[in-house]
This record gives sequence, C-alpha cells and structure tokens, in this order.
Amino acid sequence: MRMYKNKNKTPVASWYDYDFFTEERRAIKSLTVILRTAGCQWRRCVMCGYWQESADARLVQADILTQLERALRDCPEEEFILKIFTSGSFLDEQEISSDTRRAIAEMVKRREAVKKLVVETRPEFVSAEKIESLNGIENLEFAIGLETANDFIRSEYIKKGFSFDDYRTAADTVIGCGAIVKTYLLLKPPFVSEKRAIEDAIKSAELVSDYSSTISLNLCNIQKYTPLENLWRDGYYRPPLLWSVVDAITEIKRRDFVVISDPVGAGYKRGPHNCGACDNEIKKAIKKFNITQDLSVFKRLDELDFACGCKDVWQALIDYDAFLFDSKPFL
Ligand code: SF4
Ligand SMILES: [Zn+2]
Repeated sequence: MRMYKNKNKTPVASWYDYDFFTEERRAIKSLTVILRTAGCQWRRCVMCGYWQESADARLVQADILTQLERALRDCPEEEFILKIFTSGSFLDEQEISSDTRRAIAEMVKRREAVKKLVVETRPEFVSAEKIESLNGIENLEFAIGLETANDFIRSEYIKKGFSFDDYRTAADTVIGCGAIVKTYLLLKPPFVSEKRAIEDAIKSAELVSDYSSTISLNLCNIQKYTPLENLWRDGYYRPPLLWSVVDAITEIKRRDFVVISDPVGAGYKRGPHNCGACDNEIKKAIKKFNITQDLSVFKRLDELDFACGCKDVWQALIDYDAFLFDSKPFL
C-alpha cells in the first residue's frame, strides 16, 4: 500500500490487490484509490471515521484530478479493476463536481487496461443524469453502503440516515442506466448479538439479491474517534468472531449470490477476531474465497487441527443465544 502525506494534491492511499471480476467470474488485478475530497456530508454513522481523511478547505476540484493522475501514473498494462473511493460519495456534487466527474470518466476511458470502474455513493446522490455522465465506461459498478435491510437496525443502531426504500430507488436507477450495484452489508452492528448479526446479514443478502451483482460483507471494526469506539472501550461492543464471518459467507454463498468480504483488521482487537491462534488461517481462507468464490476453502479449516478450540466457544455462544431468544419459555 502506498500512503501519502496529508496534502490536497495526493490521494489518501492507493494499493493493488486481486478482486473477483463478477461479470467474467474470475479474479483479476485491482487498483484501489482513495481520493481526498471534502468528505462525507453525513458523518453520523456510528462506526465510521472515514470523513476524518477529508481534505482541508483549500482543496480545489483540479486537485482531485491531480490525485488520480498520481495514483494512475504507474498503473499496469495488464487489465485491472479500478476502484475510486472518496471516504464519502462519488456522486456527491460537494465532493466531486459534475465537471470533475466527467474529466475522471475521460481519464478512465483513455486507459484500455481498466476493465471495470467501481465507485461508492449514498443513495440520495444517485440520479440518471449523474450516471450518464460516466457513459462509455465498460462495466460500471456503484457500491452502496446499505449495511442491513432492517430499517430499525440501520436507523437506530447505525444512524445511517436512509431507508431500505431509498436504497431500492437508487439501485433501480443504477440498473435502469445499465450499470450494476454492489451492496455493502455490515456484519455485527452495535447492540446486535453474534447470532442475530449473522441472521441479519443472511436475511439482508436475500432481500438485496435482486438488486446486487455482488454482496460485500463488511466486518465491523473499531475506527478511532467514533461513537462505536466509546462503546467498545466501555465494554459494550466486541467486533464479530471470525467463525461468524465464515458462517455468514457460507450461508450467503449457498443461496448462490456472489459474496466477498475484505477481512480488514482481522486478528486485531479492533477488528474481527477469534482467540489469536486461529485468526491468520481464517483470514487467509476468507481472502482466498473472495477471489475464487469456492466454499471448499472453508471446509479445509475443519481439517486443520486448531488446538485453541475457540470454534466450540463460538458454537456455545450461538446455541446460548438460540436458547434465550428462540425457545418459547424464555420469550
Ligand atoms: S459510513 Fe459512509 S455514509 Fe456513513 S459516515 Fe461513513 S462515509 Fe458517510
Ligand atoms: Zn481459535
């Protein structure tokens, strides 16, 4: 990963990896660029500190193009997926003006190696007119952070500020313009138990599957200076166990959806983690699954002799939750 100093003419970061290319069902190289813009206008989601990476007030739109040029300067000649993120919304005029968006589209179209462009946006910024300003880009994907199809969890626990209907309207507009949607779901929002979180992710995946070419299961982690960090410090929140991640991915994949999950911070106390002894193997398996979509990578985990036994602890936690909430005498 290339990190840049906090200057308006440099992106926050850029890095290469491999991604599953949904349209052709294979893995190819990807370049992620995080542009430094004015940042997300909403800034109220309890787990999110991305807006802290915003540019200062001196930023002008030309700086954004300079940032992208720098990130693309030594991009590969072989085909790759380009992901342009902004720590906010690519379609928000306050972050990226329509002229800048058009200039970015031209820059992307000039690079034949770019097989696909992925950008992120909140639903309220989606319009046919803005999407059409990106016309001519082969394989255009809009990632929307729905987090959950459950309106109560999204509005009360995550403070996301838009409804499932808002998401559906935006997704319909994207699809109507010939582009595709990636939906981000959040595994383990605050105040939701381990078992309920897995169930919520699976149920949400089912409800968004008609709109989404890919489901990205985002594993809740503790970012600095966020309300979630306060909950975590006071002992009211723990990131998901990695066994929950494997379980949720497995169930979503069994429903025949394309699902990926970047294990950001896996194995660390601020990220999804188990006992420490088995975390690395599970993280590797998740990364392998992302580019193969092959569930057998998780079956192999059962063959590994983890002396830690923490899968039993996870299973006991899930069973206990079921006993408390699903058994009639305790309702
Ligand atoms: S999660 Fe997205 S919408 Fe929410 S504050 Fe962060 S950048 Fe904004
Ligand atoms: Zn373990």
